[in-house]
Amino acid sequence: MSKLYALFGGTFDPIHYGHLRPVEALAQKVGLKKVTLLPNNVPPHRPQPEASAQQRVEMLRCAIADRPLFDIDTRELERATPSWTVATLEALRAERGTEQPLGFIIGQDSLLTLAKWHRWQDLLSLCHLLVCKRPGYATQMETPEMQQWLDEHLADDVQQLHHSPAGHIWLADTPLLDISATEIRQRRHAGISCADLLPDAVIGYIDSVGLYRS
Ligand code: ATP
Repeated sequence: MSKLYALFGGTFDPIHYGHLRPVEALAQKVGLKKVTLLPNNVPPHRPQPEASAQQRVEMLRCAIADRPLFDIDTRELERATPSWTVATLEALRAERGTEQPLGFIIGQDSLLTLAKWHRWQDLLSLCHLLVCKRPGYATQMETPEMQQWLDEHLADDVQQLHHSPAGHIWLADTPLLDISATEIRQRRHAGISCADLLPDAVIGYIDSVGLYRS
């Protein structure tokens, strides 16, 4: 069976260490050789990112220049309409075949709201869910039904992720970083330094194009 390959979706407005460090730790623990960053197109009814799609990709490029673990897939941005994660995963499945072990990385906050995702019940037929810890979010699901669903799919051995193409949930023991893109945007607007919250190269880019300024 081919190597476990993982995607990490997000708005990345901007990408920060709360994205990068837990995923780097996850990759090391799980044995991921590559993680593909998948920047989202945000649906029109939701608050729009401050940075343009092109700027968000540029920030990803700055962030990963010295991080060979990562690459970028811009397919969701190239479509005129926002894509559902499940549809992107179906497309990847079609490209990579039914046997490829595929992981989709999310933070704990996203796991808690998974039942709101379009066709969420189909996700585990397409991929494993690899979950990073995030401080400030519950570790229990909101309803007994969702907790049962989680418990039923939890992998108890990392090898299960490598030896099956999809179907397991892995709660990774990753470092807790209390950072959000919202906080970074707010700090920038207030003129407060964001050093240590995101890579210097990304800060340099943000400064050079005047992003997140009031
Ligand atoms: P915003 O504050 O704009 O909502 P965000 O910082 O939550 O943004 P997103 O781009 O929305 O970042 O998140 C992409 C993915 O990264 C999600 O699955 C989210 O759970 C995860 N994530 C974001 N920040 C962290 C963090 N500090 N620790 C762990 N996971 C995180």
